[in-house]
Amino acid sequence: MQNKHRAKKSLGQNFLQDANIARKIVDSLKINESDSVIEIGPGQGALTKFILEAGPESLTLVEKDRDLAPALAAKYPEADVKLEDALKFDWAGLDKDKQWKIVGNLPYNVASKIMWDIAARSNATCVFMVQHEVGMRITSGPGSKKYGAISVWVQSFCKTDYLFQVPPTVFKPKPKVDSAVIKFFPLPEEEKPSDIEGLAKLVKYCFQYRRKQLGKILKSFISDAVLEWAEQEGVSLKDRPEALSPLQFQSLYKCVKNDFPS
Ligand code: SAM
Repeated sequence: MQNKHRAKKSLGQNFLQDANIARKIVDSLKINESDSVIEIGPGQGALTKFILEAGPESLTLVEKDRDLAPALAAKYPEADVKLEDALKFDWAGLDKDKQWKIVGNLPYNVASKIMWDIAARSNATCVFMVQHEVGMRITSGPGSKKYGAISVWVQSFCKTDYLFQVPPTVFKPKPKVDSAVIKFFPLPEEEKPSDIEGLAKLVKYCFQYRRKQLGKILKSFISDAVLEWAEQEGVSLKDRPEALSPLQFQSLYKCVKNDFPS
């Protein structure tokens, strides 16, 4: 029983042991002295010391673990440690006048949810380590088998890059799968969609039926506007959701927004 409890507690908590990889992750964020940096899930601080060495204007550590957070505060007094769940963090509330950068070797069980929120609500440049599969999905384009709701969503707000792969051997405990380091570059505000709650509903709805044709998925919402949209975009209603680019999802949303209210 006790072992079961421990196994559950450590789910996705794989601590990085390799200083060269930690440095490489932090270097890829290109921190400078005017950056306000947030690290998610710093754990035992594998990335933290390299972030501080890069000399940001400020560093905030968001760590949910009640034992790790005070240990981090003692070890890195120059950082602002928040004992907080990154899933509940107010990403939209970050001071708009500051230049934000967010980094983290994310807890794998909640990584997609955290990135979903950060991409849409913050205006930060980000570097994340995630499961290789998740990294592939987020950075894949239309037409790829890996392209799905999270790809459309994140790419509606950010340009994404797959930076490099990381093997399981550099973590303790060793995960079963490879990891990937990915980067988000936020798009200019005027290129980002508005009315994002409704768009999220449409994207999730379509990929719930990813093997079906758009004509079938959208059957109850077909209107002249949708038919015109398809013609203008060169989209066939026999296509599947994975054929649509993030911009095409956004323009489709304008035709069906009454059916997917925010
Ligand atoms: N960054 C460290 C490293 O590379 O060794 C630790 C990475 S470990 C995969 C994930 C860390 O995120 C753990 O320290 C865990 O306590 C923390 N964590 C898990 N869920 C979290 C959440 N929802 N919000 C904030 N931190 C979380």
